[in-house]
Amino acid sequence: MIIGIDLGTTNSLAAYCKNKKAVIIPNRLQKNLTPSVVAVDEEGQILVGETAKEYGMLHPERMADVFKRFMGSKKEYDLGGRRFKPEELSAFVLRCLKEDAEEYLGKKVTEAVISVPAYFDDERRKATKLAGKLAGLKVERIISEPTAAAITYGLYDKKENTRFMVFDLGGGTFDVSILELYGTILEVRAVAGDNYLGGENFTEVIEQEFIRKNEIDIDKLDAKTLTAIHKAAELCKRELGEKKNPKMKCKVGGETKEMNITAKAYEKLCEPLLERIRKPLQRSITDAHVKITDIDQVVLVGGATRMPLIREFIVKLFRQFPDTSVQPDEAVALGAAIQAAMKARDKDVKEIILTDVCAFTLGTEVSVERPDGSFESGHYCPIIERNTVIPASRTERLYTLHDDQEKIRINVFQGESRLTANNLLIGTMDIRIPKKPRGEESVDVTYTYDINSILEVEVKVVSTGRVKKQIIKGKYNTMTDEEIKNRLEELSYLKISPRDQEENKLLLLRGERCYEESTGQRRTVIERCMREFETALDSRERDQIMDAADALRKCLEEQGDEV
Ligand code: AMP
Repeated sequence: MIIGIDLGTTNSLAAYCKNKKAVIIPNRLQKNLTPSVVAVDEEGQILVGETAKEYGMLHPERMADVFKRFMGSKKEYDLGGRRFKPEELSAFVLRCLKEDAEEYLGKKVTEAVISVPAYFDDERRKATKLAGKLAGLKVERIISEPTAAAITYGLYDKKENTRFMVFDLGGGTFDVSILELYGTILEVRAVAGDNYLGGENFTEVIEQEFIRKNEIDIDKLDAKTLTAIHKAAELCKRELGEKKNPKMKCKVGGETKEMNITAKAYEKLCEPLLERIRKPLQRSITDAHVKITDIDQVVLVGGATRMPLIREFIVKLFRQFPDTSVQPDEAVALGAAIQAAMKARDKDVKEIILTDVCAFTLGTEVSVERPDGSFESGHYCPIIERNTVIPASRTERLYTLHDDQEKIRINVFQGESRLTANNLLIGTMDIRIPKKPRGEESVDVTYTYDINSILEVEVKVVSTGRVKKQIIKGKYNTMTDEEIKNRLEELSYLKISPRDQEENKLLLLRGERCYEESTGQRRTVIERCMREFETALDSRERDQIMDAADALRKCLEEQGDEV
Protein backbone atom coordinates (compact mmCIF):
# COMPACT_ATOMS: atom_id res chain seq x y z
CA MET A 1 0.00 0.00 0.00
CA ILE A 2 1.25 3.46 -0.85
CA ILE A 3 0.18 6.54 1.09
CA GLY A 4 0.79 10.29 0.94
CA ILE A 5 2.58 12.04 3.78
CA ASP A 6 2.92 15.71 4.60
CA LEU A 7 6.02 15.85 6.77
CA GLY A 8 5.53 19.31 8.22
CA THR A 9 7.70 21.57 10.37
CA THR A 10 5.12 21.66 13.15
CA ASN A 11 2.67 18.92 12.25
CA SER A 12 2.68 15.89 10.01
CA LEU A 13 -0.17 13.91 8.57
CA ALA A 14 -0.92 11.01 6.28
CA ALA A 15 -3.66 10.39 3.74
CA TYR A 16 -4.74 7.75 1.24
CA CYS A 17 -7.10 7.49 -1.69
CA LYS A 18 -10.41 5.75 -1.29
CA ASN A 19 -13.08 5.67 -4.01
CA LYS A 20 -11.56 8.53 -5.99
CA LYS A 21 -11.31 10.69 -2.89
CA ALA A 22 -8.30 11.47 -0.76
CA VAL A 23 -8.95 10.94 2.94
CA ILE A 24 -6.87 11.84 6.00
CA ILE A 25 -5.75 8.90 8.14
CA PRO A 26 -6.36 9.62 11.83
CA ASN A 27 -3.50 8.86 14.21
CA ARG A 28 -3.51 6.68 17.33
CA LEU A 29 -5.14 9.50 19.29
CA GLN A 30 -7.89 9.83 16.67
CA LYS A 31 -6.45 13.19 15.59
CA ASN A 32 -5.55 14.20 12.05
CA LEU A 33 -2.40 16.10 12.94
CA THR A 34 0.62 14.51 14.59
CA PRO A 35 3.00 17.16 15.96
CA SER A 36 6.47 16.78 14.40
CA VAL A 37 8.02 16.46 17.84
CA VAL A 38 10.25 13.71 19.24
CA ALA A 39 11.36 13.10 22.83
CA VAL A 40 13.32 10.42 24.62
CA ASP A 41 11.98 9.60 28.10
CA GLU A 42 13.95 8.47 31.16
CA GLU A 43 13.61 4.82 30.15
CA GLY A 44 15.09 5.59 26.75
CA GLN A 45 11.76 5.14 25.02
CA ILE A 46 11.02 7.30 21.99
CA LEU A 47 7.94 9.49 22.23
CA VAL A 48 6.45 11.04 19.12
CA GLY A 49 3.76 13.63 18.48
CA GLU A 50 1.37 14.97 21.10
CA THR A 51 2.92 12.80 23.83
CA ALA A 52 6.42 14.04 23.00
CA LYS A 53 5.16 17.62 23.02
CA GLU A 54 3.55 17.18 26.41
CA TYR A 55 6.65 15.41 27.75
CA GLY A 56 8.74 18.29 26.41
CA MET A 57 6.78 20.75 28.56
CA LEU A 58 8.19 18.95 31.61
CA HIS A 59 11.60 18.03 30.17
CA PRO A 60 12.47 20.50 27.41
CA GLU A 61 16.05 19.20 27.21
CA ARG A 62 14.80 15.77 26.18
CA MET A 63 12.58 17.02 23.37
CA ALA A 64 13.27 18.19 19.79
CA ASP A 65 10.96 20.08 17.43
CA VAL A 66 11.15 22.13 14.21
CA PHE A 67 13.96 19.82 13.07
CA LYS A 68 12.64 19.91 9.52
CA ARG A 69 14.38 23.26 9.20
CA PHE A 70 17.71 21.53 9.62
CA MET A 71 17.17 18.55 7.34
CA GLY A 72 20.25 17.91 5.25
CA SER A 73 22.53 19.92 7.55
CA LYS A 74 25.16 18.77 10.01
CA LYS A 75 23.10 19.74 13.04
CA GLU A 76 22.67 17.04 15.66
CA TYR A 77 20.34 16.83 18.65
CA ASP A 78 21.28 15.38 22.01
CA LEU A 79 18.24 13.77 23.62
CA GLY A 80 18.78 11.90 26.84
CA GLY A 81 22.42 11.15 26.01
CA ARG A 82 21.74 9.93 22.46
CA ARG A 83 22.60 11.90 19.37
CA PHE A 84 20.22 12.19 16.45
CA LYS A 85 20.35 13.82 13.04
CA PRO A 86 17.28 15.76 11.85
CA GLU A 87 16.56 13.02 9.29
CA GLU A 88 16.53 10.43 12.07
CA LEU A 89 14.08 12.46 14.10
CA SER A 90 11.92 12.82 10.99
CA ALA A 91 12.19 9.06 10.55
CA PHE A 92 10.56 8.55 13.97
CA VAL A 93 7.66 10.77 12.94
CA LEU A 94 7.33 8.86 9.68
CA ARG A 95 7.50 5.52 11.48
CA CYS A 96 4.68 6.62 13.72
CA LEU A 97 2.51 7.75 10.78
CA LYS A 98 3.26 4.48 9.00
CA GLU A 99 2.24 2.40 12.03
CA ASP A 100 -0.95 4.42 12.53
CA ALA A 101 -1.84 4.06 8.86
CA GLU A 102 -1.26 0.30 8.97
CA GLU A 103 -3.50 -0.03 12.00
CA TYR A 104 -6.21 2.11 10.42
CA LEU A 105 -6.10 0.52 6.97
CA GLY A 106 -5.45 -3.00 8.18
CA LYS A 107 -2.73 -3.32 5.55
CA LYS A 108 1.06 -3.07 5.40
CA VAL A 109 2.25 0.30 4.19
CA THR A 110 5.46 -0.10 2.22
CA GLU A 111 5.74 3.07 0.25
CA ALA A 112 4.98 6.77 0.56
CA VAL A 113 4.96 9.93 -1.49
CA ILE A 114 6.34 12.58 0.85
CA SER A 115 5.94 16.30 0.36
CA VAL A 116 8.66 18.91 0.83
CA PRO A 117 8.56 22.70 0.51
CA ALA A 118 9.17 23.77 -3.08
CA TYR A 119 12.08 25.70 -1.68
CA PHE A 120 13.88 22.62 -0.39
CA ASP A 121 17.14 22.17 -2.24
CA ASP A 122 18.60 18.93 -3.43
CA GLU A 123 20.34 18.27 -0.12
CA ARG A 124 17.13 18.54 1.86
CA ARG A 125 15.13 16.47 -0.61
CA LYS A 126 17.68 13.71 -0.33
CA ALA A 127 17.57 14.00 3.46
CA THR A 128 13.79 13.57 3.30
CA LYS A 129 14.16 10.41 1.21
CA LEU A 130 16.71 9.13 3.70
CA ALA A 131 14.28 9.77 6.56
CA GLY A 132 11.72 7.65 4.70
CA LYS A 133 14.22 4.88 4.25
CA LEU A 134 15.14 4.95 7.93
CA ALA A 135 11.44 4.63 8.73
CA GLY A 136 11.20 1.53 6.56
CA LEU A 137 9.37 3.27 3.73
CA LYS A 138 10.20 3.21 0.06
CA VAL A 139 10.20 6.83 -1.12
CA GLU A 140 10.54 7.01 -4.86
CA ARG A 141 8.70 10.23 -5.23
CA ILE A 142 9.04 13.49 -3.41
CA ILE A 143 6.41 16.07 -4.23
CA SER A 144 6.56 19.81 -3.70
CA GLU A 145 4.03 20.95 -1.11
CA PRO A 146 2.38 23.59 -3.32
CA THR A 147 2.13 21.11 -6.17
CA ALA A 148 0.46 18.64 -3.84
CA ALA A 149 -1.96 21.32 -2.63
CA ALA A 150 -2.68 22.33 -6.19
CA ILE A 151 -3.56 18.76 -7.10
CA THR A 152 -6.05 18.73 -4.25
CA TYR A 153 -7.71 21.93 -5.35
CA GLY A 154 -7.32 21.25 -9.07
CA LEU A 155 -9.03 17.93 -8.93
CA TYR A 156 -11.91 18.79 -6.68
CA ASP A 157 -12.58 22.20 -8.06
CA LYS A 158 -12.98 20.89 -11.61
CA LYS A 159 -12.32 24.32 -13.07
CA GLU A 160 -10.20 24.22 -16.16
CA ASN A 161 -7.64 26.63 -17.54
CA THR A 162 -7.16 28.40 -14.25
CA ARG A 163 -4.12 30.28 -13.07
CA PHE A 164 -3.76 30.15 -9.35
CA MET A 165 -1.48 30.93 -6.51
CA VAL A 166 -0.81 28.53 -3.66
CA PHE A 167 -0.07 30.57 -0.56
CA ASP A 168 1.45 28.24 1.99
CA LEU A 169 2.28 29.57 5.43
CA GLY A 170 3.14 26.65 7.68
CA GLY A 171 4.73 26.59 11.11
CA GLY A 172 8.24 27.40 9.96
CA THR A 173 8.25 28.00 6.24
CA PHE A 174 6.56 30.21 3.71
CA ASP A 175 6.09 29.08 0.12
CA VAL A 176 4.31 30.73 -2.70
CA SER A 177 3.74 29.15 -6.09
CA ILE A 178 1.97 30.17 -9.23
CA LEU A 179 0.44 27.33 -11.21
CA GLU A 180 -1.64 26.88 -14.30
CA LEU A 181 -4.06 24.10 -14.96
CA TYR A 182 -4.90 23.36 -18.60
CA GLY A 183 -7.20 20.38 -18.78
CA THR A 184 -5.17 17.66 -17.14
CA ILE A 185 -1.83 19.42 -17.31
CA LEU A 186 -0.73 21.20 -14.20
CA GLU A 187 2.17 23.49 -14.81
CA VAL A 188 4.13 25.20 -12.09
CA ARG A 189 5.06 28.62 -13.39
CA ALA A 190 7.07 30.00 -10.50
CA VAL A 191 7.95 29.32 -6.89
CA ALA A 192 9.42 31.57 -4.25
CA GLY A 193 9.52 31.58 -0.49
CA ASP A 194 11.26 32.14 2.78
CA ASN A 195 12.62 29.13 4.64
CA TYR A 196 12.69 31.01 7.92
CA LEU A 197 9.24 32.50 8.07
CA GLY A 198 6.15 30.78 9.40
CA GLY A 199 3.38 30.74 11.99
CA GLU A 200 5.98 30.42 14.74
CA ASN A 201 7.23 33.93 13.98
CA PHE A 202 3.68 35.19 14.55
CA THR A 203 3.63 33.42 17.90
CA GLU A 204 6.96 34.98 18.81
CA VAL A 205 5.48 38.45 18.26
CA ILE A 206 2.93 37.73 21.01
CA GLU A 207 5.60 36.27 23.30
CA GLN A 208 7.79 39.34 22.89
CA GLU A 209 4.89 41.66 23.59
CA PHE A 210 3.94 39.67 26.70
CA ILE A 211 7.52 39.84 27.96
CA ARG A 212 7.78 43.54 27.19
CA LYS A 213 4.43 44.55 28.71
CA ASN A 214 5.02 42.55 31.88
CA GLU A 215 8.61 43.79 32.16
CA ILE A 216 9.94 40.24 32.40
CA ASP A 217 13.68 39.71 32.37
CA ILE A 218 13.98 37.01 29.72
CA ASP A 219 17.51 36.03 30.81
CA LYS A 220 16.14 34.97 34.19
CA LEU A 221 13.59 32.55 32.73
CA ASP A 222 14.16 28.82 32.81
CA ALA A 223 13.36 26.53 29.89
CA LYS A 224 10.07 25.39 31.41
CA THR A 225 8.74 28.92 31.83
CA LEU A 226 9.80 29.79 28.30
CA THR A 227 7.91 26.76 26.99
CA ALA A 228 4.85 27.73 29.06
CA ILE A 229 4.95 31.29 27.67
CA HIS A 230 5.23 29.88 24.17
CA LYS A 231 2.21 27.65 24.71
CA ALA A 232 0.13 30.51 26.13
CA ALA A 233 1.15 32.75 23.21
CA GLU A 234 0.14 30.06 20.72
CA LEU A 235 -3.27 29.84 22.39
CA CYS A 236 -3.64 33.60 22.34
CA LYS A 237 -2.73 33.67 18.62
CA ARG A 238 -5.50 31.19 17.88
CA GLU A 239 -7.97 33.13 20.04
CA LEU A 240 -7.24 36.23 18.01
CA GLY A 241 -9.06 34.42 15.22
CA GLU A 242 -12.24 34.29 17.28
CA LYS A 243 -12.11 37.20 19.72
CA LYS A 244 -11.24 40.83 19.21
CA ASN A 245 -9.43 41.20 22.50
CA PRO A 246 -8.21 37.93 24.02
CA LYS A 247 -6.34 37.68 27.29
CA MET A 248 -3.05 35.82 27.54
CA LYS A 249 -2.19 34.36 30.94
CA CYS A 250 0.94 32.62 32.10
CA LYS A 251 2.63 31.82 35.36
CA VAL A 252 6.08 33.39 35.64
CA GLY A 253 8.13 33.01 38.81
CA GLY A 254 5.10 31.86 40.83
CA GLU A 255 3.01 34.83 39.76
CA THR A 256 0.28 34.84 37.09
CA LYS A 257 1.06 37.49 34.49
CA GLU A 258 -1.56 38.70 32.04
CA MET A 259 -1.82 40.63 28.83
CA ASN A 260 -4.71 41.86 26.72
CA ILE A 261 -4.04 42.28 23.06
CA THR A 262 -6.42 43.62 20.43
CA ALA A 263 -6.54 42.26 16.89
CA LYS A 264 -5.62 45.75 15.67
CA ALA A 265 -2.57 46.04 17.91
CA TYR A 266 -1.46 42.56 16.90
CA GLU A 267 -1.74 43.40 13.23
CA LYS A 268 0.43 46.46 13.77
CA LEU A 269 3.08 44.37 15.54
CA CYS A 270 3.04 41.88 12.65
CA GLU A 271 3.68 44.50 9.96
CA PRO A 272 7.38 43.59 9.54
CA LEU A 273 6.36 39.93 9.04
CA LEU A 274 3.74 40.90 6.46
CA GLU A 275 6.42 42.88 4.69
CA ARG A 276 8.57 39.75 4.56
CA ILE A 277 5.64 37.87 3.03
CA ARG A 278 5.24 40.49 0.35
CA LYS A 279 8.75 39.97 -1.08
CA PRO A 280 8.48 36.35 -2.30
CA LEU A 281 4.93 37.10 -3.47
CA GLN A 282 6.21 39.85 -5.70
CA ARG A 283 9.12 37.72 -6.92
CA SER A 284 6.90 34.81 -7.93
CA ILE A 285 4.60 37.12 -9.85
CA THR A 286 7.53 38.70 -11.70
CA ASP A 287 9.15 35.32 -12.43
CA ALA A 288 5.89 33.89 -13.77
CA HIS A 289 5.54 36.94 -16.04
CA VAL A 290 2.03 37.65 -14.83
CA LYS A 291 0.22 40.47 -13.09
CA ILE A 292 -1.59 40.25 -9.77
CA THR A 293 -4.87 40.61 -11.63
CA ASP A 294 -4.04 37.54 -13.75
CA ILE A 295 -4.37 35.29 -10.71
CA ASP A 296 -7.81 33.67 -10.86
CA GLN A 297 -7.69 32.10 -7.47
CA VAL A 298 -5.60 32.11 -4.31
CA VAL A 299 -5.62 28.87 -2.33
CA LEU A 300 -4.50 28.68 1.25
CA VAL A 301 -2.26 26.02 2.69
CA GLY A 302 -0.64 25.71 6.12
CA GLY A 303 -2.15 26.19 9.56
CA ALA A 304 -1.00 29.79 9.85
CA THR A 305 -3.27 30.89 6.98
CA ARG A 306 -6.14 30.48 9.44
CA MET A 307 -5.12 33.80 10.95
CA PRO A 308 -7.62 36.51 9.96
CA LEU A 309 -4.81 39.00 9.49
CA ILE A 310 -3.31 36.81 6.76
CA ARG A 311 -6.67 36.43 5.05
CA GLU A 312 -7.28 40.18 5.18
CA PHE A 313 -3.79 40.79 3.79
CA ILE A 314 -4.61 38.55 0.81
CA VAL A 315 -8.00 40.14 0.21
CA LYS A 316 -6.40 43.59 0.17
CA LEU A 317 -3.61 42.56 -2.17
CA PHE A 318 -5.51 40.39 -4.64
CA ARG A 319 -8.92 42.04 -4.32
CA GLN A 320 -10.51 38.62 -4.00
CA PHE A 321 -11.36 36.15 -1.28
CA PRO A 322 -9.03 33.17 -1.02
CA ASP A 323 -10.36 29.67 -1.61
CA THR A 324 -10.81 27.93 1.70
CA SER A 325 -12.79 24.89 0.57
CA VAL A 326 -10.12 22.52 1.87
CA GLN A 327 -8.73 22.59 5.42
CA PRO A 328 -5.46 24.51 5.03
CA ASP A 329 -3.45 22.01 7.02
CA GLU A 330 -4.81 19.01 5.13
CA ALA A 331 -4.46 20.14 1.50
CA VAL A 332 -0.86 18.97 1.10
CA ALA A 333 -1.34 15.49 2.56
CA LEU A 334 -4.45 14.98 0.42
CA GLY A 335 -2.53 15.96 -2.71
CA ALA A 336 0.34 13.65 -1.79
CA ALA A 337 -2.20 10.84 -1.41
CA ILE A 338 -3.64 11.53 -4.86
CA GLN A 339 -0.12 11.53 -6.25
CA ALA A 340 0.48 8.22 -4.47
CA ALA A 341 -2.64 6.77 -6.07
CA MET A 342 -1.49 8.01 -9.48
CA LYS A 343 1.84 6.36 -8.89
CA ALA A 344 0.13 3.14 -7.94
CA ARG A 345 -1.87 3.52 -11.19
CA ASP A 346 -5.16 3.62 -9.40
CA LYS A 347 -7.63 3.69 -12.30
CA ASP A 348 -10.16 5.68 -10.29
CA VAL A 349 -7.88 8.68 -10.12
CA LYS A 350 -7.75 11.04 -13.04
CA GLU A 351 -4.18 11.17 -14.28
CA ILE A 352 -2.71 14.64 -14.08
CA ILE A 353 0.50 15.50 -15.83
CA LEU A 354 2.69 17.60 -13.67
CA THR A 355 5.34 19.95 -14.77
CA ASP A 356 7.52 21.37 -12.07
CA VAL A 357 10.18 24.05 -11.94
CA CYS A 358 13.63 24.31 -10.48
CA ALA A 359 13.22 26.36 -7.32
CA PHE A 360 16.68 27.95 -7.37
CA THR A 361 19.33 28.96 -9.87
CA LEU A 362 22.14 26.51 -10.64
CA GLY A 363 25.35 27.93 -12.02
CA THR A 364 29.10 27.91 -12.01
CA GLU A 365 31.93 30.13 -10.88
CA VAL A 366 33.73 32.38 -13.38
CA SER A 367 36.31 35.14 -13.27
CA VAL A 368 35.65 38.54 -14.73
CA GLU A 369 38.24 40.85 -16.21
CA ARG A 370 39.00 44.09 -14.38
CA PRO A 371 39.73 47.29 -16.35
CA ASP A 372 43.48 46.82 -15.61
CA GLY A 373 43.44 43.42 -17.36
CA SER A 374 43.67 41.34 -14.18
CA PHE A 375 40.98 38.83 -13.24
CA GLU A 376 38.65 38.70 -10.30
CA SER A 377 37.32 35.28 -9.42
CA GLY A 378 34.21 34.41 -7.42
CA HIS A 379 31.58 35.63 -9.87
CA TYR A 380 28.46 33.60 -10.56
CA CYS A 381 27.45 32.46 -14.02
CA PRO A 382 23.85 31.16 -13.88
CA ILE A 383 23.24 28.15 -16.13
CA ILE A 384 19.76 26.93 -15.20
CA GLU A 385 17.82 29.91 -13.88
CA ARG A 386 15.30 29.58 -11.09
CA ASN A 387 11.77 28.75 -12.18
CA THR A 388 12.90 26.99 -15.36
CA VAL A 389 10.51 24.13 -16.15
CA ILE A 390 12.17 20.81 -15.37
CA PRO A 391 13.55 18.52 -16.72
CA ALA A 392 15.89 21.14 -18.15
CA SER A 393 19.24 21.06 -19.87
CA ARG A 394 21.34 24.16 -20.56
CA THR A 395 24.87 24.67 -21.85
CA GLU A 396 27.33 27.48 -21.30
CA ARG A 397 30.75 27.80 -23.00
CA LEU A 398 33.71 28.81 -20.79
CA TYR A 399 37.17 29.88 -22.05
CA THR A 400 40.67 29.59 -20.59
CA LEU A 401 41.99 32.62 -18.72
CA HIS A 402 45.73 31.99 -18.89
CA ASP A 403 48.29 30.92 -21.46
CA ASP A 404 49.13 27.21 -21.27
CA GLN A 405 46.35 26.49 -18.83
CA GLU A 406 46.23 22.72 -18.23
CA LYS A 407 42.89 22.27 -16.55
CA ILE A 408 39.57 23.96 -15.96
CA ARG A 409 37.81 23.64 -12.64
CA ILE A 410 34.02 23.72 -12.60
CA ASN A 411 32.60 24.72 -9.24
CA VAL A 412 28.89 23.96 -9.17
CA PHE A 413 26.80 26.42 -7.17
CA GLN A 414 23.20 26.87 -6.22
CA GLY A 415 21.77 30.25 -5.28
CA GLU A 416 20.84 33.68 -6.52
CA SER A 417 23.74 35.92 -5.51
CA ARG A 418 26.04 37.61 -8.02
CA LEU A 419 29.00 36.43 -5.95
CA THR A 420 29.58 32.71 -5.42
CA ALA A 421 30.70 33.28 -1.84
CA ASN A 422 27.05 33.90 -0.98
CA ASN A 423 25.80 30.82 -2.82
CA LEU A 424 25.98 27.16 -1.89
CA LEU A 425 28.80 25.08 -3.34
CA ILE A 426 27.32 21.70 -4.25
CA GLY A 427 30.05 20.09 -6.31
CA THR A 428 33.41 20.42 -8.05
CA MET A 429 34.84 18.91 -11.25
CA ASP A 430 38.23 19.25 -12.94
CA ILE A 431 38.93 18.57 -16.60
CA ARG A 432 42.31 18.51 -18.40
CA ILE A 433 42.67 20.63 -21.54
CA PRO A 434 45.42 20.94 -24.16
CA LYS A 435 47.88 23.82 -23.50
CA LYS A 436 47.08 26.81 -25.74
CA PRO A 437 47.29 30.61 -25.53
CA ARG A 438 44.60 32.08 -23.30
CA GLY A 439 41.09 32.14 -24.68
CA GLU A 440 41.84 29.57 -27.37
CA GLU A 441 40.65 26.56 -25.44
CA SER A 442 37.12 26.20 -24.17
CA VAL A 443 34.70 23.79 -22.54
CA ASP A 444 30.95 23.38 -22.91
CA VAL A 445 29.38 22.97 -19.51
CA THR A 446 25.94 21.35 -19.59
CA TYR A 447 23.70 21.17 -16.56
CA THR A 448 20.81 18.73 -16.70
CA TYR A 449 18.29 18.91 -13.89
CA ASP A 450 15.68 16.18 -13.82
CA ILE A 451 12.22 15.78 -12.36
CA ASN A 452 13.63 14.14 -9.22
CA SER A 453 15.87 17.17 -8.57
CA ILE A 454 19.06 15.38 -9.60
CA LEU A 455 21.69 17.51 -11.26
CA GLU A 456 24.09 16.05 -13.78
CA VAL A 457 26.99 18.15 -14.98
CA GLU A 458 28.73 17.35 -18.25
CA VAL A 459 31.92 19.10 -19.31
CA LYS A 460 33.10 18.73 -22.90
CA VAL A 461 36.45 20.00 -24.18
CA VAL A 462 35.46 21.71 -27.41
CA SER A 463 38.76 21.07 -29.27
CA THR A 464 39.14 17.36 -28.47
CA GLY A 465 35.56 16.28 -27.80
CA ARG A 466 36.64 14.73 -24.50
CA VAL A 467 33.68 14.44 -22.08
CA LYS A 468 33.46 14.12 -18.30
CA LYS A 469 30.15 13.65 -16.48
CA GLN A 470 29.24 13.79 -12.83
CA ILE A 471 26.04 13.48 -10.83
CA ILE A 472 26.19 16.14 -8.16
CA LYS A 473 25.68 14.55 -4.78
CA GLY A 474 25.14 16.41 -1.53
CA LYS A 475 28.00 16.97 0.87
CA TYR A 476 26.41 15.78 4.06
CA ASN A 477 24.04 12.99 3.16
CA THR A 478 26.49 10.71 1.55
CA MET A 479 25.54 7.85 3.84
CA THR A 480 26.50 4.65 2.07
CA ASP A 481 24.00 1.80 1.83
CA GLU A 482 26.08 0.02 4.44
CA GLU A 483 25.87 3.00 6.82
CA ILE A 484 22.13 3.27 6.29
CA LYS A 485 21.76 -0.44 7.05
CA ASN A 486 23.78 -0.11 10.26
CA ARG A 487 21.92 2.97 11.41
CA LEU A 488 18.61 1.28 10.59
CA GLU A 489 19.58 -1.58 12.83
CA GLU A 490 20.60 0.77 15.65
CA LEU A 491 17.38 2.75 15.37
CA SER A 492 15.23 -0.37 15.31
CA TYR A 493 16.38 -1.14 18.86
CA LEU A 494 14.91 2.13 20.03
CA LYS A 495 11.38 1.46 21.10
CA ILE A 496 8.64 3.87 20.19
CA SER A 497 6.20 4.10 23.06
CA PRO A 498 3.45 1.45 22.55
CA ARG A 499 0.40 2.66 20.65
CA ASP A 500 -2.24 1.20 22.93
CA GLN A 501 -0.94 3.07 25.99
CA GLU A 502 -0.45 6.35 24.19
CA GLU A 503 -3.65 8.04 25.31
CA ASN A 504 -3.06 7.14 28.97
CA LYS A 505 0.57 8.22 28.85
CA LEU A 506 -0.44 11.55 27.34
CA LEU A 507 -3.07 12.10 30.01
CA LEU A 508 -0.59 11.36 32.80
CA LEU A 509 1.89 13.82 31.32
CA ARG A 510 -0.79 16.47 31.02
CA GLY A 511 -1.74 15.89 34.65
CA GLU A 512 1.91 16.12 35.68
CA ARG A 513 2.32 19.44 33.90
CA CYS A 514 -0.91 20.91 35.25
CA TYR A 515 0.17 19.88 38.75
CA GLU A 516 3.46 21.72 38.31
CA GLU A 517 1.66 24.78 36.98
CA SER A 518 -0.83 24.91 39.88
CA THR A 519 -0.62 25.60 43.61
CA GLY A 520 -2.72 25.05 46.75
CA GLN A 521 -6.22 23.60 46.43
CA ARG A 522 -5.95 23.07 42.66
CA ARG A 523 -2.88 20.91 43.22
CA THR A 524 -4.70 18.78 45.75
CA VAL A 525 -7.58 18.17 43.35
CA ILE A 526 -5.26 17.24 40.46
CA GLU A 527 -3.14 15.05 42.73
CA ARG A 528 -6.24 13.10 43.86
CA CYS A 529 -7.46 12.47 40.31
CA MET A 530 -3.96 11.48 39.18
CA ARG A 531 -3.64 8.96 42.00
CA GLU A 532 -7.02 7.46 41.16
CA PHE A 533 -6.02 7.18 37.53
CA GLU A 534 -2.71 5.52 38.42
CA THR A 535 -4.49 3.03 40.67
CA ALA A 536 -6.93 2.27 37.86
CA LEU A 537 -4.04 1.73 35.44
CA ASP A 538 -2.44 -0.71 37.91
CA SER A 539 -5.71 -2.61 38.19
CA ARG A 540 -5.75 -3.20 34.39
CA GLU A 541 -9.55 -3.07 34.56
CA ARG A 542 -10.72 -1.44 31.34
CA ASP A 543 -13.89 0.17 32.71
CA GLN A 544 -12.14 1.44 35.81
CA ILE A 545 -9.36 2.95 33.68
CA MET A 546 -11.84 4.67 31.40
CA ASP A 547 -13.83 6.14 34.29
CA ALA A 548 -10.73 7.40 36.05
CA ALA A 549 -9.37 8.83 32.77
CA ASP A 550 -12.63 10.69 32.18
CA ALA A 551 -12.54 12.05 35.73
CA LEU A 552 -8.94 13.25 35.34
CA ARG A 553 -9.65 14.81 31.93
CA LYS A 554 -12.64 16.64 33.36
CA CYS A 555 -10.64 17.81 36.34
CA LEU A 556 -7.86 19.21 34.13
CA GLU A 557 -10.39 21.01 31.97
CA GLU A 558 -12.00 22.50 35.06
CA GLN A 559 -8.58 23.73 36.08
CA GLY A 560 -8.47 25.60 32.77
CA ASP A 561 -6.13 23.36 30.78
CA GLU A 562 -6.90 23.47 27.08
CA VAL A 563 -6.08 20.48 24.91
P1 AMP B 1 1.43 23.62 9.70
O1 AMP B 1 2.93 23.50 9.66
O2 AMP B 1 0.82 23.78 8.37
O3 AMP B 1 0.78 22.57 10.53
O4 AMP B 1 1.13 25.01 10.43
C1 AMP B 1 1.33 25.16 11.77
C2 AMP B 1 1.22 26.61 12.12
O5 AMP B 1 -0.12 27.04 11.95
C3 AMP B 1 1.61 26.88 13.55
O6 AMP B 1 2.45 28.01 13.62
C4 AMP B 1 0.26 27.16 14.21
O7 AMP B 1 0.41 28.09 15.26
C5 AMP B 1 -0.54 27.77 13.08
N1 AMP B 1 -1.99 27.60 13.29
C6 AMP B 1 -2.72 26.47 13.27
N2 AMP B 1 -4.02 26.72 13.53
C7 AMP B 1 -4.13 28.05 13.72
C8 AMP B 1 -5.21 28.94 14.03
N3 AMP B 1 -6.46 28.51 14.21
N4 AMP B 1 -4.93 30.27 14.15
C9 AMP B 1 -3.67 30.72 13.98
N5 AMP B 1 -2.60 29.95 13.69
C10 AMP B 1 -2.82 28.62 13.57
